[in-house]
Amino acid sequence: MGRELSVVGGGVIGLACALAATDAGWTTTVHDAGPRARATHVAGGMLGCLGEGQPGEDRLLDLSSQSAALWPDFLGRLGDPAVHTASDSILMAASGTDFAYLDDQVAFVRDRLPAASLRRSTGSELRRAEPSLGRGLAGGYLAEGEGAVDNRLLIDALAAALRASGGQVVDATVDDPTELPGDRVLIAAGLGSAALAGAGVPVHGEKGEILRLRRTRWSVPPPRHVIRGRRHGRPVYLVPRADGVVVGATQYEAQGPDDRRPQAVGVADLLADAIAVMPGLSSYELVEAAAGIRPCSADGLPIVQRIDDRMLVATGHGRNGIALAPWTASRVMELLA
Ligand SMILES: Cc1cc2nc3c(=O)[nH]c(=O)nc-3n(C[C@H](O)[C@H](O)[C@H](O)COP(=O)(O)OP(=O)(O)OC[C@H]3O[C@@H](n4cnc5c(N)ncnc54)[C@H](O)[C@@H]3O)c2cc1C
Repeated sequence: MGRELSVVGGGVIGLACALAATDAGWTTTVHDAGPRARATHVAGGMLGCLGEGQPGEDRLLDLSSQSAALWPDFLGRLGDPAVHTASDSILMAASGTDFAYLDDQVAFVRDRLPAASLRRSTGSELRRAEPSLGRGLAGGYLAEGEGAVDNRLLIDALAAALRASGGQVVDATVDDPTELPGDRVLIAAGLGSAALAGAGVPVHGEKGEILRLRRTRWSVPPPRHVIRGRRHGRPVYLVPRADGVVVGATQYEAQGPDDRRPQAVGVADLLADAIAVMPGLSSYELVEAAAGIRPCSADGLPIVQRIDDRMLVATGHGRNGIALAPWTASRVMELLA
């Protein structure tokens, strides 16, 4: 069996797979074009499973729940407690209509995952759990065990763990993956994977705007929970960081791979919704408004497969690539074996 692996792409998927391969004895090199076009760099970092469940996405929910079960060991392998920024989530609804939508979503999740820890709660029960929430909520659910990571620290921790185990990360844009050395080549280049892996791997981009807010000396502390809200039919989420929150995210078809500037309306909607959910955010500093492009497959499921005897691909993780990273790494290890 081959023992040298080249990986194209140093986002969460490429690095998670490279680390798993290195741990299994492969000599691994990651070739990465840098963070500019990296979805992992802009993402929110939610480890979504229960809160992501949508009727019709049965298989995705199964994969997400398998990945959620792998996260504790994955974090343990990285050994940096700062990566994990929240352990639980609140799914909250601003109005009765939003609550009815949430009830349908939760009914679907419970049907497939009967052991899921989702506790239906009134608005005041949610505010007792998370005092930073605004008044007048219709209610929602407490989702225990569904947390978040700091995606930028995660990338640093993955690269550090890889290097400490003898793997390498090199700055390089790969034009032709067949020319890379190694017994196996894994294409994990996010949106760039389609151009490298060929017509059999159709990946399209969905743009998302996202904000980073930092607390000041005068502001209330960041929330302890990931807060996933619905307000006037629009989703908004707040993801805790040590020094603030990440507020996300819009979702619409990207106009091309360079469509990476946030639109004013996206930023305005996110800010309005976030401050309505957590009024104390109004005194936070807005330190970043960014847009990224999610690498999406046609059926919403990750594409993790062999292309030929030497090449494999892992991409198309859409809105859940961080959450699905440990599952993807374990699936790639099965394919490498
Ligand atoms: C606004 C937003 C919010 C999100 N929030 C979440 C969230 O809360 N939770 C979650 O699970 N997911 C979230 N996602 C989705 C998640 O970010 C992606 O699914 C995931 O990051 C994809 O990882 P990846 O490694 O496949 O791709 P990327 O992170 O895009 O990494 C691909 C890497 O490949 C490199 N590359 C590309 N082409 C080449 C080439 N030819 N040669 C060399 N290198 C190349 C790039 O430079 C890049 O570093 C979000 C996405 C967006 C846009």
